[in-house]
Amino acid sequence: MRLSKTRYLRGLQCLKSLWLHNFRPDLRAPVSPALQRIFDQGRQVGELARRCFPGGVLIAADHDHIPEALAQTAAALKRGAETLFEAAFVHDDVLARPDILVRVEGGWDLIEVKASTEIKEVYLPDVAVQHFVVAGSGLKARRGLLMHVDNGYVRKGAVDPLKLFRTEDVTALCAPHLKELPATLAAMRAVLGNVLPEIEIGAQCSSPYDCDFRDFCWKHVPDYSVYDLKRADFGTITELRHLGVMRLEDIPPDFGLTDAQEIQVRVAKSGEPHIDGPGIRKCLAGLVYPLHFLDFETVAPAIPPYDGLRPFQALPFQASLHVQAEPGGKTEHLEYLGDPKSDPRAGLVDFLIGRIGPKGSVVVYNASFEGGRLLELAEAFPRQAKALTGIKKRLWDLIVPFRSNLFVHPDMRGSASLKSVLPALVPGMDYEHLDIGDGVMAFLAYEALMAGKMSAAQAKKTMAALREYCGQDTLGMVEILRVLEQYAV
Ligand code: SF4
Repeated sequence: MRLSKTRYLRGLQCLKSLWLHNFRPDLRAPVSPALQRIFDQGRQVGELARRCFPGGVLIAADHDHIPEALAQTAAALKRGAETLFEAAFVHDDVLARPDILVRVEGGWDLIEVKASTEIKEVYLPDVAVQHFVVAGSGLKARRGLLMHVDNGYVRKGAVDPLKLFRTEDVTALCAPHLKELPATLAAMRAVLGNVLPEIEIGAQCSSPYDCDFRDFCWKHVPDYSVYDLKRADFGTITELRHLGVMRLEDIPPDFGLTDAQEIQVRVAKSGEPHIDGPGIRKCLAGLVYPLHFLDFETVAPAIPPYDGLRPFQALPFQASLHVQAEPGGKTEHLEYLGDPKSDPRAGLVDFLIGRIGPKGSVVVYNASFEGGRLLELAEAFPRQAKALTGIKKRLWDLIVPFRSNLFVHPDMRGSASLKSVLPALVPGMDYEHLDIGDGVMAFLAYEALMAGKMSAAQAKKTMAALREYCGQDTLGMVEILRVLEQYAV
């Protein structure tokens, strides 16, 4: 039963996942648009990396045509190719296709390309298994290298792949994985030769990657359970599960919980919100009218699309602003949505400086995010830097009362995110009815607009959906504050 590099890595994360992938692929969740985008981005980065090796030979046969890929690889090597992309090798019945293979003095370097700004532990077994297969196929594998995007790179003109990427030698780091590989492969084969292994759900279900068999393995877990206990590690959760506890309501009173967890459990048991009126009053005392409720939407491509951007730098393309002049007063809604065909930042800066008045708090939800974007805009637009940093200094973070447990509602289910807090505090105001209902959908939609692949009618509809979504975020913040004010005593 042939393993591939991908299956090997799946098996390292969870042997049950490997077994299910092999025998019950029908139970896998479909690839979500967000995951597909990660795959697409990885492919784009991989293709760009190849431009650092002019003259390289691409082994074009895909994963459905492995015998052809093996034959093409053998033929290219025989012809004396110096660099191969996606070459195919099999050793010990394991298939590997290194992204880039380069002939060097005394052997070959194999290079794995990652759409990441750093080396992660999870990449090491990835390189190790390729090293194992390539070396076992008879090639002298000299080094294993990781090529990843350099977050120190700032785009200026056309993207320069030689400057965008950084390559690091991970041969020594891979050595322990390489040593363990034969035994690990044997363990995987033993599992594949047996019935479905009994493995409890745990940290491996989301680390290092979200497992696509969650719907199957987690079906016995209720919507709200001990797995939602705030900041609980899997050690704590496993302890509770061994006590037979699944629901928060069933956690024994003497079980050691943090203060935040105790509040969460008490709220779950009683069904009543926890409200710290004096705490909320103290918190709201920092607000200065007029209030400007502000929200950004951003996209963060691996390959910077415009000058002045770094890889994965968040590019704000949209802002919604609700302005409230006095307590309880009416709000005015203003918005900005960039033209997807050009850099949206200059227009956004003009919007922010022109529409946010010189006085009053700028209310955001999770200030570190909006604050970070304002600083980046100030860096990119030095002439407007003073005004932008001035706005940043006036940020007031609406998440604080929820993150600090001053207001905990049972329907928030342990989360302080806007998407959890808004429908809990303002029934009927949720994101269910919107065509674009979360930040991921928003940036996927904007990326599709940037790619110019939509018809004019589709683009118009998508722009309208983006406006509605971002507007809902700031209107939601207005309503949340209105509710909080009622409890500030
Ligand atoms: S959901 Fe968890 S237990 Fe189930 S296969 Fe995936 S990683 Fe393994």
